[in-house]
Amino acid sequence: SRRLLSESLMEVRMVVTEDKASGKRREEEGEEEEEEDVGSISSLGQDGFDSDPDPAPEQDSDTDDDETDREMASMGGDQGDFFEEQDKSKQAEASEEVQEKATWQSRAKRLEQAGEEVDVSVLPFSLTRDLRKEEEAGEPRNKFFFKIDGASSNCVRNAWRRAGGVRTHKGGWNVWWGRPLKQEEYKKLNSFQRVCHFPGTFFLGRKDSLAKSILSFRRSHGPASFTYLPKTYIHPEDRERLLADWKEKGSRSTYIVKPRASARGQGIKLVVDPESLAPSSSCVVQEYIDKPLLIDGRKFDMRLYVLVTSFDPLRLYLYDDGLARFCTEKYDEDVRGSSGDLFRHLTNYSVNKTHASFLAREAEEGEQHPLKWSLRALKEHLQGAGVDTRRVFEQVEDLIVKTLLAVEGRINSKLQQLVPYRNNCYELFGFDVMLDASLHPWLIEVNTSPSLAADSPLDKRIKNAMVVDMFNMLGICTYSRRKLKQLRDRKERLSSLAFSSRLQRASVVDKHRQAEVCKGRRDPLEDLTELDEEIIRESEEELQLAGGFKRLFPSPSSERLRRLIQPRYNNLLLARWLERPHALDRLKTRRRSFAGAEEDTRCFSSAPKRQANKVLRIVGRKEAREAAGRGRR
Ligand code: ADP
Repeated sequence: SRRLLSESLMEVRMVVTEDKASGKRREEEGEEEEEEDVGSISSLGQDGFDSDPDPAPEQDSDTDDDETDREMASMGGDQGDFFEEQDKSKQAEASEEVQEKATWQSRAKRLEQAGEEVDVSVLPFSLTRDLRKEEEAGEPRNKFFFKIDGASSNCVRNAWRRAGGVRTHKGGWNVWWGRPLKQEEYKKLNSFQRVCHFPGTFFLGRKDSLAKSILSFRRSHGPASFTYLPKTYIHPEDRERLLADWKEKGSRSTYIVKPRASARGQGIKLVVDPESLAPSSSCVVQEYIDKPLLIDGRKFDMRLYVLVTSFDPLRLYLYDDGLARFCTEKYDEDVRGSSGDLFRHLTNYSVNKTHASFLAREAEEGEQHPLKWSLRALKEHLQGAGVDTRRVFEQVEDLIVKTLLAVEGRINSKLQQLVPYRNNCYELFGFDVMLDASLHPWLIEVNTSPSLAADSPLDKRIKNAMVVDMFNMLGICTYSRRKLKQLRDRKERLSSLAFSSRLQRASVVDKHRQAEVCKGRRDPLEDLTELDEEIIRESEEELQLAGGFKRLFPSPSSERLRRLIQPRYNNLLLARWLERPHALDRLKTRRRSFAGAEEDTRCFSSAPKRQANKVLRIVGRKEAREAAGRGRR
């Protein structure tokens, strides 16, 4: 029934692809090269969204799902404040709803038995396999359509093309890469669409917002909760505090002054006398970490790739490789004397690659990259120098998790307001972290559009593999017109059942249960709902497919952060799930097979293979949402 019901409700978007010839032409164009992180955030308005009026979306002639979108949206999460209702009426309603749901499910099952199977394929991404070259007998291969609006990168485009993706410039797309969507665009997403940004991640990407978010997190949880941000002032608001602190330190500190929202080292300078800043200057001023860890006398920072697949529940992963980026010139301990020499003080690749020595050395072949190392090479080097890298990187992981915890509440509110489906968004962040001479990690910034351009063998090796792992983990689906037609027909047959107003009220019961769990009065693993099972299954499946990504949250060790985590139901559900001994056993053996997992929990009993699991995942998610009438989220 799960499959049938969800199919019946799945939105249908018929895709008209661009003219094949022109698409082909585009594929054959040379790869655009992108230099470094794109400061997409800088072009956004105060609230992080483009202030341009939303242009009418391009409509494909046979796109007919807008009506459905509106209907779905009208079932939205706003079910009224059930807490105000009387207990008695709640109970009566609850039993009515249970009965109604049972009847509905048995009717749906009968319909399902009469119906035919609809397959929803999951796209395989690979470094070596190119689906375009694989002949498929019989039916034409299902295609998926990607749209790039803003900066793209060769790694992403190549991964999509190899998986059979076709670039489109129109409205009917599967996956989106580039700028964050506008508010109205988020609201119109259908369940097949995946977007590479969550709304509201400017809280991380803008330097001023990041500092504010972390400072507010520290105010709520105490100064020890976050020790990784260099002391930061938003100028001119914090000017007085800045000058007072500077004088208190005998006017000896150096500060680094940055535009509030920019990238690639643009507009950055070192300042030894903050009084010289124009009182109206709008910028971020930060204490300069003047004793960095040096390698061969040069300063470096680390680029870490962090993937968030969901904010509710929070699920975040760190890739097991990354980059270390070096200054071209040796560091000068006399910061005051050398403050104008950015080749000694800024580690940005885009700054340092303009240095004459780099330009000269670039020509030499077979040499190690003069400005970049892989993160693995850096770790090996540090281990060789006697550094306890495990301890250092535990702190780095702590920094990453806490940074995301500092913004998750606000991003979740944006998600609730704007995004129709739980899995519409994901985001890859570039965390820039520096180590000081005492091996303490410092968060320098978070990039919401980290560069995925690969212009050297080192970049290619790291970024291509990461991108492939990322898309495999996300489980991007494709669909064909034939299948969409089947879905549409079933939707018509079942629409009266699905939109039953009585079923929508089932969510009252669930909300009550969730509130009890959040207050600690109930175990979330008691009476798992289908949506709960879906979330657990989704999370387990991600782990299976994580490749080089390591899950940092939730993890068995995230229990120590309990004090810092908002008691959000889905977070509690996964945290509790991980506490169960059999769940832990399974994590240890997770790479063996799905079959092993299957025996150990009822949630996975119907998902022996990845493909089948994906089908269930999609269907189960939709069915749970629609059937229980939980509304949009
Ligand atoms: P951008 O987004 O323009 O790259 P960053 O904040 O990343 O700006 O700063 C650019 C470079 O300046 C960093 O890569 C790092 O080398 C250096 N830097 C930034 N902040 C500090 C700091 N507080 N202490 C020492 N060096 C810093």
